[in-house]
Amino acid sequence: MKKNDVILAAALIGIALAAFGGAALYSQLTTKEPEAVVRLDGEEKGRYPLSEDTTVEIRQEDGSYNILRVESGKARILKASCPDKVCVSHRPISRQGESLICLPNRLAVEIENGAESGIDASVLSR
Ligand SMILES: [Zn+2]
Repeated sequence: MKKNDVILAAALIGIALAAFGGAALYSQLTTKEPEAVVRLDGEEKGRYPLSEDTTVEIRQEDGSYNILRVESGKARILKASCPDKVCVSHRPISRQGESLICLPNRLAVEIENGAESGIDASVLSR
């Protein structure tokens, strides 16, 4: 009897954890987080959520590079090989549609997030 109670409790905890995990996963799949999208020559090279602090080095075959820093929900270019350093001196970006452009390196970092919600809505209403 007592053993059964323990098993029941364990099973309930297991179910609760599974439900919690499922809900967390679901919200992760459905919530569109702001992301910094890195493109080289218009080709997507990577996506980095602004919620995660990270440093990314984008190095090209000719030796040119940009170092992207994501910190406190903002993205900026920390360092770059370009001569003008326009990208480095640009203020950090965090809002939909904002971008960091490095013309000499043909690099673009753009913020993307819930912009597709409009498209989703129109699909649903069709
Ligand atoms: Zn630059």
